[in-house]
Amino acid sequence: SGSLDVYDRLRELMEERGIHCAVRLEEEPHEHEVGMKKSGCHGFCEMGPLVRIEPWGYLYTKVKVADCEEIVEKTILGGEHIERLAYHQNGKVFEKQDEIPFYQKQTRLVLEHCGHIDATSIEEYLGIGGYTALEKALFEMDGDAIIRTVTDSGLRGRGGGGFPAGKKWSQVKAQKTEEKYIVCNGDEGDPGAFMDRSIMEGDPHRLLEGMMIAGLACGAAEGYIYVRAEYPMAVERLRTAISQAEAWGLLGENVLGTGFSFKMHINRGAGAFVCGEGSALTASIEGKRGMPRVKPPRTVEHGLFDKPTVLNNVETFANVPRIIREGAEWFQSFGTAGSPGTKAFALTGNIENTGLIEVPMGTTLREIIFDIGGGIKDGKEFKAVQIGGPSGGCLIETNLDLPLDFDSLKKVGGMIGSGGLVVMDDSTCMVEVARFFMNFTQNESCGKCVPCREGTRRMLEIMERIVDGRGEEGDIETLLELSDMISNTALCGLGKTAAFPVLGTIRYFRDEYEAHIREKR
Ligand code: SF4
Repeated sequence: SGSLDVYDRLRELMEERGIHCAVRLEEEPHEHEVGMKKSGCHGFCEMGPLVRIEPWGYLYTKVKVADCEEIVEKTILGGEHIERLAYHQNGKVFEKQDEIPFYQKQTRLVLEHCGHIDATSIEEYLGIGGYTALEKALFEMDGDAIIRTVTDSGLRGRGGGGFPAGKKWSQVKAQKTEEKYIVCNGDEGDPGAFMDRSIMEGDPHRLLEGMMIAGLACGAAEGYIYVRAEYPMAVERLRTAISQAEAWGLLGENVLGTGFSFKMHINRGAGAFVCGEGSALTASIEGKRGMPRVKPPRTVEHGLFDKPTVLNNVETFANVPRIIREGAEWFQSFGTAGSPGTKAFALTGNIENTGLIEVPMGTTLREIIFDIGGGIKDGKEFKAVQIGGPSGGCLIETNLDLPLDFDSLKKVGGMIGSGGLVVMDDSTCMVEVARFFMNFTQNESCGKCVPCREGTRRMLEIMERIVDGRGEEGDIETLLELSDMISNTALCGLGKTAAFPVLGTIRYFRDEYEAHIREKR
């Protein structure tokens, strides 16, 4: 969005005026010095580039290079607020970040540092309590105590399945094998999802800390982070974080003199969605073609290099440091009884405030779309939301007051998935939407098993002819039959859930399918 140009221009203007720009804010700025830093994502994507100015807490939105001179003159030198650059909603001006409804209704635990700290500085992470959870785990807890805390917290995997993290960790710990691995899934291939990306780019040390605590708990000495190829900045930030943590003695051999050693690796994916599936992901790390395999054996028994492996996603590991620091009860005070904690969602589509948000589990769709998201764009009406990407389902107006948590969504045939929310207005053709997702899944099918390889192709052909006005009587029934067959017989999650967008849209918008078929050219 041009943020880096804004950064360079502000710096240039301040230096021209004899104001020294300190790159970091580890110390109080001296006179004639302004601390200036690039931060990770604030989440308010629609309004970027954002500039926040302390100590006043002013937040400027959609800042352009041409605005920089006024910011330096009026605000940095004069302390004065520039209304033109503030966030405006319904005729109201919001000067400060915390007053903006987009931020006010959120509870940022995992994303608490994103947009606040310089992700390339370990000193900043240490300055806000970073690595104290690892310290606590190393000096005050043993593996059982760590796993008990994670289990009692009720933390469930944030990658889609919602499997209890503590249970997974204890299953790996119980394996009588010397060699074990901690693997982080940072593949995040769902269209419209970018939660994990923001954590890796904005707070990479937090992820490393969470993975190391898992290693300590389960008896693993090596960790792998599998990052999708499209995230070069995440890879760069993680590499920087790894070398900084090693230099500080927080990662590597004999961490803080405790005898605990942990080595971290980064693996880059090559753009295949299926590599987000556990067994395909570990195969890809091993240098094999990324294809799912039949289970059992499960990853906790025979995972990476055939060894017991903890496989969680970025957001799950990023929750761990605070749980260890503040305790299971603290974590349970957020969210619902069955789904404690918060969830990060990527809000996209026909909505006023697109961006990255974090809310307590159990927050309703209405609060997310209308309070945080600011409602539907251009005064249109809400029609539906696709939740959980291509493996998820669609929710409609009658679901607006449904609490978003693992169990409530399951009851209506949906799933949180990794947390993508694509909002659609009343001008959206739902058959087109289903065709888009079917096309995506069909392209990403690895081809190993027939039901998915052939079945999704046949479904896509039917979807295409319906959208193109060549639909035939009986097409909807064939789609339902194929959906049922693929869901029941495909080998992995990609195939099993491939038909969900079609099933969801047929369930709620069958009339649109019928209208397309009736209007046959
Ligand atoms: Fe590959 Fe699809 Fe079969 Fe999964 S279901 S193994 S993606 S062909």
